[in-house]
Amino acid sequence: MSITVSNISKQYGRQLALDRVSFTIKPGEIVGLLGPNGAGKSTMMKIITCFIPPTSGEVSVHGFNIREQSLEVRKKVGYLPENNPLYTDMYIREYLEFVAGIHQLGKNATKRVSEMMEMTGLMPEKGKKIGALSKGYRQRVGLAQAMIHDPEVLILDEPTSGLDPNQLVEIRNLIAGIGKEKTVMLSTHILQEVEAICSRAIIINQGKIVADDSTGHLLSKAGAHESVTVEFDREIKASDLKTITGVTLAKKLQGNTWLVETEAGTDVRQDIFRYAVEHNLTVLSMQKQTSSLEDVFQQLTKP
Ligand code: ADP
Ligand code: MG
Repeated sequence: MSITVSNISKQYGRQLALDRVSFTIKPGEIVGLLGPNGAGKSTMMKIITCFIPPTSGEVSVHGFNIREQSLEVRKKVGYLPENNPLYTDMYIREYLEFVAGIHQLGKNATKRVSEMMEMTGLMPEKGKKIGALSKGYRQRVGLAQAMIHDPEVLILDEPTSGLDPNQLVEIRNLIAGIGKEKTVMLSTHILQEVEAICSRAIIINQGKIVADDSTGHLLSKAGAHESVTVEFDREIKASDLKTITGVTLAKKLQGNTWLVETEAGTDVRQDIFRYAVEHNLTVLSMQKQTSSLEDVFQQLTKP
């Protein structure tokens, strides 16, 4: 196992931030730690990266225990903390060489820094101080510093928060690329992010795991359904639509536009067309939607 978390609890004074959390992550997985603000995501990540100790429970990374072998754990893990704290007065290369020094890369440092700058697409901005970079480029610096010692595991705490839509796509692609070679755990409260890059989601709410499954499974498990919005050229009745095989719900949205729901895995569009032809109706528009992880998330984290 790449990461094994067993029965971790964390108490901040009287506040229980994590409540007996357990999971394992296999090498090469890209796992999303998903949960609302205050769920305990950052706390979990700080414990795995040896920044804070748990109150109880054990974590091991590649077989190394976070309490007894924290130096080994730190060598295996790259960490991008929440809000990506950086030295804004430093030049990109200067900062990365500084981080390389901390990891004792010695004479390999210069070469490694160049490789990281290439890989994270920092070269166009190489002459700038970190303080002069856009948020997207700062995240690239954060990813570069997390990977400088070539760790096997990357822990990324809300790596895309605060990015504009273009930067967001770029950073997601970068992470997806990195994930081909490393074990990645990233936290987010954005569901599309998990759908876009993670093979698995661990959903956490109020310090407890409420779901842990592949994104595909999570969708079907929560009774995911598929729906189609369809507009006809004239009025029909809900009971007419319900005669179509597989239809579980027919709801009028407005005018002659209907929302038609079916169970997951069925595509009712052809049947709707056939129905329309048989009844001399014209289909003005038709759009298929799949229920999102968002629905699952809301169901699971409802207070
Ligand atoms: P998330 O990253 O999911 O937003 P956190 O792990 O940051 O959640 O926080 C979990 C809970 O623990 C929150 O209620 C937060 O207020 C609390 N908490 C986090 N850090 C501390 C701290 N240093 N002292 C006291 N409470 C804290
Ligand atoms: Mg957090």
